[in-house]
Formats: sequence, structure tokens, C-alpha cells
Amino acid sequence: STQEKTPQICVVGSGPAGFYTAQHLLKHPQAHVDIYEKQPVPFGLVRFGVAPDHPEVKNVINTFTQTAHSGRCAFWGNVEVGRDVTVPELQEAYHAVVLSYGAEDHRALEIPGEELPGVCSARAFVGWYNGLPENQELEPDLSCDTAVILGQGNVALDVARILLTPPEHLERTDITKAALGVLRQSRVKTVWLVGRRGPLQVAFTIKELREMIQLPGARPILDPVDFLGLQDKIKEVPRPRKRLTELLLRTATEKPGPAEAARQASASRAWGLRFFRSPQQVLPSPDGRRAAGVRLAVTRLEGVDEATRAVPTGDMEDLPCGLVLSSIGYKSRPVDPSVPFDSKLGVIPNVEGRVMDVPGLYCSGWVKRGPTGVIATTMTDSFLTGQMLLQDLKAGLLPSGPRPGYAAIQALLSSRGVRPVSFSDWEKLDAEEVARGQGTGKPREKLVDPQEMLRLLGH
Ligand code: FAD
Repeated sequence: STQEKTPQICVVGSGPAGFYTAQHLLKHPQAHVDIYEKQPVPFGLVRFGVAPDHPEVKNVINTFTQTAHSGRCAFWGNVEVGRDVTVPELQEAYHAVVLSYGAEDHRALEIPGEELPGVCSARAFVGWYNGLPENQELEPDLSCDTAVILGQGNVALDVARILLTPPEHLERTDITKAALGVLRQSRVKTVWLVGRRGPLQVAFTIKELREMIQLPGARPILDPVDFLGLQDKIKEVPRPRKRLTELLLRTATEKPGPAEAARQASASRAWGLRFFRSPQQVLPSPDGRRAAGVRLAVTRLEGVDEATRAVPTGDMEDLPCGLVLSSIGYKSRPVDPSVPFDSKLGVIPNVEGRVMDVPGLYCSGWVKRGPTGVIATTMTDSFLTGQMLLQDLKAGLLPSGPRPGYAAIQALLSSRGVRPVSFSDWEKLDAEEVARGQGTGKPREKLVDPQEMLRLLGH
């Protein structure tokens, strides 16, 4: 029968990993792919992570939309795997299951004072300005003069840039109305990005750094002392790192030309990189009610190359601030007790996307590799997972005989009172968001309340 030739596959998560995996699986001429997503809307961090002033990055949504329009692909939002349906139930209904659910948590600082008001994760802050429902109550207090970001990666730079960009430059982005309102009232003038190691170890990339250096109304603060002896060392490092370090070095040590000097002199805001500093404690205000600074241990580097470690010198330094944002990484959570999980590395143990010891179960994206890498990296690794799955299918390693696929899951969900959101439902929400943005010249005004979304869909 035709059904026997139709491999039923499902993917958990609709970020880049989910969509790119589905795209590859659909190369099989009969495969049917269902994508389950816990949010009522698709695209994961492309919608809820990528900065609002980087709209070009979000063009991948067009490719994902094409995939979703395939007659052999379906999107089912508003379905949280592990809560609304279990992984074993999916395994029962499908020939294969791919876990692409990303990294939903943040790494904690694990230092005293972390719980004080005025401290939050960069992840929550990003979710707040990008309209992630669970972060809409964040209410970050931007009434202080100085913010400290712990971490020196691209997410840290995104957050610093959003804090320092003149709000009128964000007006025509898809940043939420509420976030824009708070940023308009912001008194933050200085943002420090703190790293345990030195300029050669920063985790951000050159494009993001250049954008920061050229940010309107803001000037960079770099201490030339941090760059002593670096000129010689950069000769040995790989080319992308070399170009990045040269840009840092030039910015820190060269006298700017007259135009740039004038620009910097008139800048009302500033940002700086604080190197060789490891956070020890968030310092409370005198009344103990909120964060008033960060105590940093001064470090120096030991070891070479990959093994370079920051070790404390014994010196301490207090950095006063009213807002502390920890940006030391995202973290995946285990999704279901039946799925192996490496809690130390925060990934599902796998070999090239095949989940260890569980035939028919695969993974891709951040939950497979850990929470690093851009969308292009995620694409490559998701295609690879798709390839492994199709190989296994061809080799007869997946269950034979028909599987019910969505029909079985739909029955389960409906018995549990869960109403999935289809891709055409999402397109209605999308049109509504675009319409709401129109009056104010925004590409869209995001809906941030899942209840409102479901109401608009008549669910
Ligand atoms: P995600 O994009 O996180 O997708 C996972 C999806 O799974 C989510 O939609 C989530 O809701 C869903 N999910 C989670 N749990 C469940 C569950 N139990 N059941 C069902 N669904 C579930 N890359 C670039 O190339 N350019 C950029 O400018 C850029 N900016 C970034 C900014 C930030 C703040 C961050 C954090 C990342 C950025 N990246 C950028 C990296 C890029 O976002 C990632 O490489 C990519 O999103 C990882 O894809 P993923 O599908 O593994 O995870």
C-alpha cells in the first residue's frame, strides 16, 4: 500500500534546526514530516533571539515558510512535548523522531547576590525585547547610569547594542512596543562587558564588533594596557581571530582621525570591554534591596591556546552598577525521562545526530551540539542529521509497516484538551502582526500574549 511507503517522521522544535532538518527529510520522495512546537508561533530564536535591528538575518524565515508549505510537511504549534505529549508516544506514532528543541535555559552565575533585583539573564532580557511570552513581565529597571554584562559573546554585544542604540533607531524594527517604551525612558549611559580572559579570547565576531564601534551616539572604552604584547601574538592566530583582534587593537591603541574624534567627543553614551575579570559576587545596595555593583576577581592567563585559563591573582575590584545581565551561555533541558541526557555538557548524547542507544531517535541543532554557533552552523548540522536518518531508513533500520503519524497524536492531544496551531493559523497571526505594525512604520507589532493569539484564531 502507499501508506507502507510513507515514512512518518516528526521533528520537535521549529527553530532553524527543526526547519532545516525537515527540509532535508523532505528530499525523500514520500516522507511526511510533522513539526511540533511549544509556542503558538514558529521559528524559535529567529523570532525570539535574533536582534530586532538585524532584520536581514530573519530572511531564513522565507525558506522555512517554503518548507512548511510543502504538501508533505505540517506545523503543529502550541504543543509542548514532554507535557502535552511524551516522546514515547511520538515514537509509537512515527517511524522516527528528531529532537530539535534548542536550549531553553541559561547558565547560572552561581555567585552570591545573583538573586537580587537588578540581576537578570541576557536570555530573559533578549526574550523581553523580542516578545517571548514568558519574559513579558521582566520590567528591567533602566533608571541606573551603568549596566554590567557578564560575558563577551555575540549575545552580550546584542544586549549592549540594544541598551545603547538611540531608541529612534529602533522605532522601525519589530522590537515590542513595551520594550521600546522602556528603552525610551532609559538612563543607562555606560555598559561594561566583562570577561574572565583577554582580548584574544573574546567570543563575539567581527561584524558585531564593528557595528558596536560605529554605534551612533556611543564611544568605545578600551584600556591599551590590556593589549600590551598582543601585536606579536596575533601573528600566530587563525585569520578570522587575527582580523578581529586587529580591529580591537586598533580601536584601543590608535588615535582616531578628526571625524571619528569629533563623533566620540559628542557621544553621550559609552561601552567598554573589561578583560581579566571574574565575577565573585553581586553587591547589594545599602538597604540590601537590589544590586548595586559586581565584585570582580582580577585574573591572569595560564596555559596556551585552547587550554588558556584565567586564574585569580588575588586582587579584587568593585564595579558599581544598577543592572547586571549575565550572558555566559544558554543551556538545554532534558525533555523526557526516556531520552538520554548529558547534564554536564547540556546535550543529548549522540553520534552524528543519532541519539545514543535509542534506534529511531535523532537530534539536531543546539540540543545536539550545545548552544553555540550561528544559523549557518545549525543548518549544516541539521542537514547531516537528516542525512543519517534517511540512510537508516534506506538500510531498513527503522520500524517497518505503517505508522499513524499525526492522526494518533491528534487524538491524544484532543483528549487532553490541547488545540494545536497549524501553519495557516500562524499565517493569520502573521498578517495580524504586520497589520498592527503598519500604522507606526514597523515591519510588525508582535503578539506577545498566547491567550490573545488563540482568541484571534477562535480556539
Ligand atoms: P531554537 O532556535 O532555540 O529552536 C528551538 C525550538 O524548539 C524553539 O522554537 C522552542 O520553542 C522549541 N521547543 C523547546 N522545547 C520544546 C518542547 N518541549 N516541545 C516543543 N517545542 C519545543 N545566529 C545567526 O546566524 N545570526 C544572528 O544574528 C543570531 N543572533 C542570535 C541572538 C541570540 C540572542 C541567540 C541566543 C542566538 C542567535 N543566533 C544567531 C544563533 C541562532 O539563533 C541559533 O544557531 C539557532 O537558533 C539554533 O537553532 P535551534 O533550532 O537548535 O534552537
